[in-house]
Amino acid sequence: MKESKGLRANYIDFKKFKVDTFQDDEKMKESFIKIFPKVMKGVRKVYKDYKKELENLPKEYKTAPKEFWDEIVEKAKSLGIGLVGFAPVDENLIFENDQSTSIKILYDNGIVLGMEMDYDAIDTAPGPRAGLEAQRIYAELGIATNKLADFIRSKGYRAIACHPLGGPILYPAMAVKAGLGEIGKQGLLISKEYGPRQRLSMISINAAPLPELINEDFKISEYCKKCGKCSVTCPTKAIYDEPIVNENGTITRIDSEKCFPQFYETTGCSICIETCPFHKIGYNMIFKLKFYR
Ligand code: SF4
Ligand code: SF4
Repeated sequence: MKESKGLRANYIDFKKFKVDTFQDDEKMKESFIKIFPKVMKGVRKVYKDYKKELENLPKEYKTAPKEFWDEIVEKAKSLGIGLVGFAPVDENLIFENDQSTSIKILYDNGIVLGMEMDYDAIDTAPGPRAGLEAQRIYAELGIATNKLADFIRSKGYRAIACHPLGGPILYPAMAVKAGLGEIGKQGLLISKEYGPRQRLSMISINAAPLPELINEDFKISEYCKKCGKCSVTCPTKAIYDEPIVNENGTITRIDSEKCFPQFYETTGCSICIETCPFHKIGYNMIFKLKFYR
């Protein structure tokens, strides 16, 4: 079992979100009224299932054949989850203060999941439409993560679902360990498939061995060094020119004191997603068509 070694998450004060911006548009207001309860329902299920897991924690790994992992990938894709990767859970990345679901213990292996946000909606950032899209994916990915965890349990394994909203572990760093991409200058996972335009979740599982990881050099940090667009367009100058390497090995790329007020005011900001070339024109255009040398 893996437990936190003391990493603390930034506390997001949901009450500060200017949700009244959704009220100006009837269609958006209607969508928000439908989406928010779905997010909370997913969060509640995660917590309920976690409590059930705690009642009877398994003492050992359960051996899983390659076919089992293939089945998980297939099931995840059928649930609309575009990114699936596997990595051992890193205790240094577990938060001691999971804000949304209070999860403190995880099984030893992780299945990292990513769901794409709509291109056109993110292109409207900053504003309520982009903010609403983030909420929609929190709801959809939360539901899909819970369903996948149920599927794993139905196969006789044990699973702890981790909701995309908040969550007990630093998802972007786990996604890198699972081979899904690299962290960009703005601190978000950049994948080949969607650039920075995804939300992440995870399931911890008591099965092993994990499928073999194919190490790939995505060349994203190399590109970031020459780009810097997010840093220039960030309205609060919250993106550090030189990232801070913390004692526990984690890296801080954003000054949250500067980012959060803008984040609350605009219901999710996302300018640093919208302006990123990996969102705008995509990974393949940048590298395969030689926009970058
Ligand atoms: S979310 Fe907005 S304020 Fe925060 S780092 Fe990105 S661009 Fe800057
Ligand atoms: S905008 Fe440029 S520097 Fe920022 S994350 Fe994207 S590629 Fe990297």
